[in-house]
Amino acid sequence: MGLATIALRPLVFLGQLRRRLSRRAALRLNVVLAVTFALFLESILHVRSHTIPRPPRDLDEPFSTQCHDPVLAAASPRENATFVMLTRNSEMDKARSTIENIERQFNQWFHYPVLFLNNEPWDPEFVRVLNASVSGLATFEVVDKEDWGYPAWMDVDDAKAKIAAQGSEGIYKAGAESYHHMCRFYSGNFYAVKALKNYRWYWRLEPTVEFMCAITYDPFAEMARRGKAYGYTVALWEVPETCPSLFRAVDDFRVENNIPAAPMWRAMIIPSWAPWPIRRLKGLWSKDHRTRDGDRWNYCHYWSNFEIADLDFFRGDSYQELFQHLDRSGGFYSERWGDAPVHALAVHLLLPPEKLHHFADIGYYHEPFFQCPGNAPGGQLLNVTALGDNAQSSPESPGGIGCRCQCPDERRRNNRGVCLNALQTPAAFHRPGWWRRWRQFYPYTIGMERNVVF
Ligand code: GDP
Ligand code: MN
Repeated sequence: MGLATIALRPLVFLGQLRRRLSRRAALRLNVVLAVTFALFLESILHVRSHTIPRPPRDLDEPFSTQCHDPVLAAASPRENATFVMLTRNSEMDKARSTIENIERQFNQWFHYPVLFLNNEPWDPEFVRVLNASVSGLATFEVVDKEDWGYPAWMDVDDAKAKIAAQGSEGIYKAGAESYHHMCRFYSGNFYAVKALKNYRWYWRLEPTVEFMCAITYDPFAEMARRGKAYGYTVALWEVPETCPSLFRAVDDFRVENNIPAAPMWRAMIIPSWAPWPIRRLKGLWSKDHRTRDGDRWNYCHYWSNFEIADLDFFRGDSYQELFQHLDRSGGFYSERWGDAPVHALAVHLLLPPEKLHHFADIGYYHEPFFQCPGNAPGGQLLNVTALGDNAQSSPESPGGIGCRCQCPDERRRNNRGVCLNALQTPAAFHRPGWWRRWRQFYPYTIGMERNVVF
């Protein structure tokens, strides 16, 4: 029996069935069939409406694909920019290890300032030690009381009880009050800190992070020159239990403000294949990670412990209104909304694809994940003496774009490319085909086994 015959069998069967039925029953059957077909067609159209158009060219390429002479690069004027590290006195050694690393890999040539922020008064020993480690200006500020902690209108006892409950449910990092304060601060009030007022750009650092390659050009200058607003390294899934109602809260803000579901927003969504009534019911029944239409967030976000971004975007009305909307819903305490998904959802709601930048050329490690670009063949500038300190590096690797990197295990990444691929789609002219997507072979997973689970 041929394949066509098998495929036609249900139709033949329907024809026979119709002939045996009374006229009324046949009419009913026709109506059922027509409705089923219409629903099926509608759900295909619904999923298709989430397609992300392919731009005429790649809208985001690496800023650098090899070493540059950092002394020459640093001869250009500086941007109005600063490093920022929020940290605690108890993390002095970890903070110092980050600073020594970024000084060696970048700031020994560029001397950008570092702003240290704390919610408590600084320990003079911290100030002394870190002052000595920074080659630019180091400033130590204490965050204003009203910028750190519960919003004034919140019932604090109730919030504390909810935090304790999240802790006993074992929700990732959700049992500590200070972690909630930190996430809320980095989501909103951070951008109003007085010490940042006169800067346009920031580069966020955390204690014990590591830059695995030399950064021999000025990322701030490139962000400015190419009109970028948000730069990231690692993209990955959020832990869904930490923020069940976050995605819906952002999507509600989108609907209330008539913001269209542009390709960037659609890059955050897995459209539902369910027929329209079931989709609506899903959206009504559970708000968790769903739009009103029942489509789901793909949980993807950028890892905000690394960020190089334009403060003007985050200080602007659109972002601040979104933050106020989220803050009023109480989710920074009733759930444990991270600043990372808040930032990522915001930039995907409010920015066009060409404003984002993936720093694919920067080697970055924050426990437990990293990205490492591999060393650019023939691009290591071995005769440049300014790079002498960074002579120890991994071998050059095919397709590598890094400068003097030391990649762990010689691998480029330890992180699957699923989220990077999803979030970059609106900016990508070159896209992996369905076979590569299905096998999870992405351009940026070269050199790593397919099934490395993180
Ligand atoms: P993780 O990266 O999500 O594991 O969170 P971290 O514990 O690394 O915290 C993120 C950043 O906020 C780090 O730079 C911490 O030093 C800082 N941080 C977190 N909680 C506090 C706090 O209560 N006070 C201060 N001053 N810094 C904090
Ligand atoms: Mn951290």
